[in-house]
Amino acid sequence: MDVVAQDLPERSPDARRWLFADQLGPHFLDAPEQPVLLVESKEVFRRGRFHRRKAHLILSALRHRAAELGDQAVFVKTGTYRQGLAECGEPVSVCDPTSYVARRFVRRLPDVQVLASRGFVVSERQFAQWAQRRDGRRLLMEDFYRDVRRYHRLLMDGDRPVGGTWNYDQDNRQGPPKQASLDVREPHWPTEDEIDEEVRADLDRWAKDDGFEFTGTDGPRRFAVTRAEALSGLRRFLSERLEQFGVYEDAMLSQDPWMAHSLLSVPQNLGLLDPLEVARRAEEHGRRHRLRLASVEGFIRQVVGWRSYTWHLYWHLGEDYKRRNALRAQQTVPSWFADLDADAVEANCLRHVLSGVRDEGWTHHIPRLMVLGNWGLQHGYQPAELADWFWRNFVDGYDWVMTANVVGMSQHADHGVLATKPYAAGGAYIDRMSDFCGGCRYDPKVRVGENACPFTAGYWNFLAGHREDLAGNRRMTQALRGLDRLRDLDGVLHQEAERGTGAP
Ligand code: SF4
Repeated sequence: MDVVAQDLPERSPDARRWLFADQLGPHFLDAPEQPVLLVESKEVFRRGRFHRRKAHLILSALRHRAAELGDQAVFVKTGTYRQGLAECGEPVSVCDPTSYVARRFVRRLPDVQVLASRGFVVSERQFAQWAQRRDGRRLLMEDFYRDVRRYHRLLMDGDRPVGGTWNYDQDNRQGPPKQASLDVREPHWPTEDEIDEEVRADLDRWAKDDGFEFTGTDGPRRFAVTRAEALSGLRRFLSERLEQFGVYEDAMLSQDPWMAHSLLSVPQNLGLLDPLEVARRAEEHGRRHRLRLASVEGFIRQVVGWRSYTWHLYWHLGEDYKRRNALRAQQTVPSWFADLDADAVEANCLRHVLSGVRDEGWTHHIPRLMVLGNWGLQHGYQPAELADWFWRNFVDGYDWVMTANVVGMSQHADHGVLATKPYAAGGAYIDRMSDFCGGCRYDPKVRVGENACPFTAGYWNFLAGHREDLAGNRRMTQALRGLDRLRDLDGVLHQEAERGTGAP
């Protein structure tokens, strides 16, 4: 069954539109008054352990959308999607869903018309044509991003990029400022209402009476679940936070997990905001208020570049891509990591980041990549299992989001399809890009002994264990030369073998 369909119809304005919980914005309807079906499937939350905050977010988003639509929607709370469709009892159309499992499922259903997917800056058909035109050349994100900007006339000055440069990454890599938090206004925090109260009570009951298991802790809902909340979040970000976004987008502060990040990946991935709308508003706001171009460009690159690129690669690379394991990583994710047991961890960086996941279901992209992913890479966590852990524990996580990001980018399990070198780093990187090390019982410069930084030791242990895998990679030459110069490598290897899978 071909689930990467490029020739599906685009519209079906007459049939009732079945909306999944990540298709909740107006652009998933063909007309504002189109009849809608929303199905809340309880059984979805039995497919692995989800973060409590994520379960809350999804249920809250669905129920808020149902309340907004009123009589325009049939809203069914039931066990399975099949039961929901049977209860509705009408033929429906649905925009192609966002996972392989869901696509196979909808194609098997009678009376369901599947339409082309929505919610990304180019269609699957356009991406396939773009990939074909590459004629065997690598599908580089940077090339894709530039073509998207040309196609949508985003940040363009005639045929040239605004400011004369496509990518201002070099200006956006500063370490953290010497203060506990950034000098920016807080993100827009939504106000919970009676729907959230009801969701909270239901989840408590599901856990207590029905045996549902969740990870993480409950707490105030931080992320937008309605279009109105999403637009408020976007406005606050553009007017108060975007200017500072770029400079510190790669930095980490222990007391300021949000820094100047937008938190808009959540409403975008719920389908509440159209990414092109987000990018155009950022461009317009940046131009009108003469914001720092590197920040505006850096943000737009995340929205129309990286986000769309990972979506399309998810389909382009095929379902087996997730099983790739070029570095033969066989370690099951240990329970302290899987259970978000941050209190078991002494390493300050990992404890902070894991507690952020436990308490919020969110950290920004650098703690994901350079702390959590880096740890998993160094310790040989199975890439597919780790990708599942990521998407179930992050409020903006979905299979399509995490497959390329974790299997390819962070675990290098595709042997370089996505990233030209593994994102492995020792304590020196974390020390440079964060304020974690100052408050840590370990020393990022020490490799062996009681104070040895587990990331530094883990880095050299990883390089030694994969010397042959990485030998042909020119971007790793310098790192492997460094490995050859280590006088205490035997001590590092012995220590890391002794460390086992316990929390550092
Ligand atoms: Fe993390 Fe090592 Fe720094 Fe501690 S010393 S915070 S373990 S990088």
